Amino acid sequence: MFEKTVVDENYVRIPKDRLFEFVVDVFKNLDVPEEDAEIVADNLIMADMRGVESHGVQRLKRYVDGIEKNAVNVHPNIRTVKESPVFAVLDGDEALGQVAGYKGMKMAIEKAKKVGVGIVGVRNSNHYGIAGYYALMAVKEGLVGISMTTSRPLVTHTGAMEKFMGTSPIAVGAPVENDHPFLLDMATSMVPSGKIEVYRRKNKPVPEGWAISTETGEIITDPRKILSPKGTILPLGGLGELHGGHKGYGLSAVVDILAGILNGATWSHHVGGTSDKHSDVGHFFMAIDPGAFGDIEEFKMNMKKFVDELRGAKKHPGFERIWVHGEKGFLTYETRLKLGVPIYKKVLDEMNNIAEKLGVQTLP
Ligand code: NDP
Repeated sequence: MFEKTVVDENYVRIPKDRLFEFVVDVFKNLDVPEEDAEIVADNLIMADMRGVESHGVQRLKRYVDGIEKNAVNVHPNIRTVKESPVFAVLDGDEALGQVAGYKGMKMAIEKAKKVGVGIVGVRNSNHYGIAGYYALMAVKEGLVGISMTTSRPLVTHTGAMEKFMGTSPIAVGAPVENDHPFLLDMATSMVPSGKIEVYRRKNKPVPEGWAISTETGEIITDPRKILSPKGTILPLGGLGELHGGHKGYGLSAVVDILAGILNGATWSHHVGGTSDKHSDVGHFFMAIDPGAFGDIEEFKMNMKKFVDELRGAKKHPGFERIWVHGEKGFLTYETRLKLGVPIYKKVLDEMNNIAEKLGVQTLP
């Protein structure tokens, strides 16, 4: 059974349904309506199920802090600012990002089903978790889904040495006949900050090339320093132009334009975190109906041919196999459905501290 990440004795496995119930209870105890609590829980647990530990329940504390500091509005009035049959702009009213994001992608899907394409921008929102969650919402409806979000400044751009850009992810999903969907879901930086947090929690240095010092510009590997004002993550492609750092920087800028500036939301170093009031995170959602462009069955069949061809290419001796985007996540999901979701013990302790404070039944 395949799992994307190494699970050792430092992890405890919790059945998916029990974890879901726990997370929903935590949010309900913070006055989040049940339906919204379920959306957030589904998003966080999907991350852990797919092996994206950086964006799973290890983030629970951050959301709880944001709500307790009143930086997040748990009873938002998410309203439509502008709308046409093809697009809409929503004001998230400082909602939990997952709640505003779910609404945004749902609208984009409805529009795509009617007119072939739906684009919805969201302003005034918060951290929305994994970008792939929303792309998959569209895929489940037989559509191509695109999702992007701005995020707080943790990344330097090419030539600079300060936390300025977001780790701002991009996700694109597409259905494939008789196979897992295609799902590219990636930060536009070398890594998302959550991955550095995983190294910090495990007391391990990060690989060289992920981050630099904001004081000297030198490569650094100490996760604590990288997460402090003394360090900054590098854009995808790394330091300078040699390995394409300027392209990762460009992708992050594109997210700032489409998810931020286009929607009347803020961008790059102005974006706030979950505990900041008015963080003004912006999202971009797009759904495309392949059936409006041509024959839907042909699209899915050709997608299948495409991914099979990718897997069948001449293999490098250093690799066991050729993967297609999303595949490791889907296989990990299937394994964890059977074995349970591995939660790092320190994260579990943190979650149980939250539970005890709120009067929620602790895990496991
Ligand atoms: P990864 O580097 O883990 O993976 C990036 C993509 O590559 C995934 O689609 C993954 O699919 C795929 N992949 C992995 N290995 C291979 C391979 N050998 N061949 C082909 N495809 C492969 O993602 P990141 O660490 O960059 O991002 C992790 C998560 O963090 C994302 O879900 C992202 O949305 C989220 N994020 C959220 C932010 C926010 O502000 N809300 C900010 C930044 C990131 P697979 O699922 O199969 O592994």
